[in-house]
Amino acid sequence: MEDGLPSNTIYGIIIDKGILWIGTFNGISRFDPATRSFKNFGLNDGLQSKEFRMNSCDKSHTGKLYFGGINGFNGFSPDNTKEKKYEPPLVLTDFQIFNKEVPIRDSIYRESPITKNITDTKEITLSHKQSVISFEFASLAFWLTWWFRLIVSVTIAGGAIAFYKFRINAIQSQKIKLQTKVSEQTAQLLQSTKDEQAARYQVELANKELERKNKELEQFAYVASHDMQEPLRTTASFVELLQQQYYGKLDEKADKYLNFIAQSSDRMKVLIKDLLDYSRIGRKKELNSVDCNEVMKEVLADLDVAIKECNADISIHQLPIINGYATEMKQLFQNLLMNAMKFRKPGISPQIHFKAHRNNGSWEFTCSDNGIGIDKQHQERIFIIFQRLHARSEYEGSGIGLAHCKKIVELHGGKIWIESEPQQGSTFYFTFPYQGPQEN
Ligand code: ADP
Repeated sequence: MEDGLPSNTIYGIIIDKGILWIGTFNGISRFDPATRSFKNFGLNDGLQSKEFRMNSCDKSHTGKLYFGGINGFNGFSPDNTKEKKYEPPLVLTDFQIFNKEVPIRDSIYRESPITKNITDTKEITLSHKQSVISFEFASLAFWLTWWFRLIVSVTIAGGAIAFYKFRINAIQSQKIKLQTKVSEQTAQLLQSTKDEQAARYQVELANKELERKNKELEQFAYVASHDMQEPLRTTASFVELLQQQYYGKLDEKADKYLNFIAQSSDRMKVLIKDLLDYSRIGRKKELNSVDCNEVMKEVLADLDVAIKECNADISIHQLPIINGYATEMKQLFQNLLMNAMKFRKPGISPQIHFKAHRNNGSWEFTCSDNGIGIDKQHQERIFIIFQRLHARSEYEGSGIGLAHCKKIVELHGGKIWIESEPQQGSTFYFTFPYQGPQEN
């Protein structure tokens, strides 16, 4: 058996054309001494049984070999022993009586001789009259055999599993890619947020620095103008003394020069006072509820002479009560009214309207006049300190007034701007945050 025999029990050997045919306890074996190879035959090859009997073998004169076993004997021509080919099973596919297909018995075909599909039918009983019958049959191709179905099922199942695994893997790798991308982008986002924070921090620092410098500058302006008051006062009082004691006693030129010095020191006084006022804005003061109507009353009383001089017509509408700095508010109203009167058209008396209304959560004030107006190109810079559009000989002034107004408005958290047409008049707008109850 180690060399390939089906059994070690040999019952008979026939030698045919150099080939040994061996009957054994377990089938027949063909041994080729030239190649020393065995080929075994079993039940599937049509043997009577696996087991053969002692000495029950012979070769006939026709050349056929015979082996006897426990279930009879096998006879075969040694040249015709071919390996068994696959024989497809045969199945009936149709059954006809008088060339008519026979239906399966049911409530309609009660008389039908078959009760199930002809393929599965084991027996049929027919009457003697049903004398012409025919069958259709098919030899099943291998793809309908159980093993082929098994292979196909296994292949399909395997394919499905492989495809499923492939998809899962693809999804998994896609997921990993996405996750990497998301984490990359998150990192980028974090980085840019950090950058932005750093930039914002830099801006804050710069702003603080600017604020500090601004304060320093204001402090400087305040100290400088404050300290200049003293020598100026001395100069002015000595010029006054000189004028009192020597006016008309020296020559004409000396009188003129004294006049110039006196005028200049007067102007200087005004300038220094304005500068001091400007740098004092918002210094260590508390916000109060300010009735703008009361403030305006004081302003009109203070400006009474000026108003009468130019014959100004000033209409004041109902004004609100706001949370603010009363002194600064007064300066603001006064500056605007004074400008509206000062920059009037020659020969035309000023018409001034001052009013306020609610607009988008703020109080919006307007002060409009019928004066000389301002060219569009200059409208921005008039709010900058010392910016003037006219020679002093034309209109008196220091160029501080509107800068003053802007500072006051911004101190209260508002904005100031102008709309103007040259030769038509100007309207100054300014806002104050509204803090009262909401209107319906
Ligand atoms: P000042 O009045 O001392 O010259 P301001 O800062 O008050 O300085 O005004 C700046 C400039 O804006 C003025 O010189 C003037 O040219 C212009 N201006 C201000 N108010 C008016 C106005 N109501 N109508 C026309 N021009 C004006």
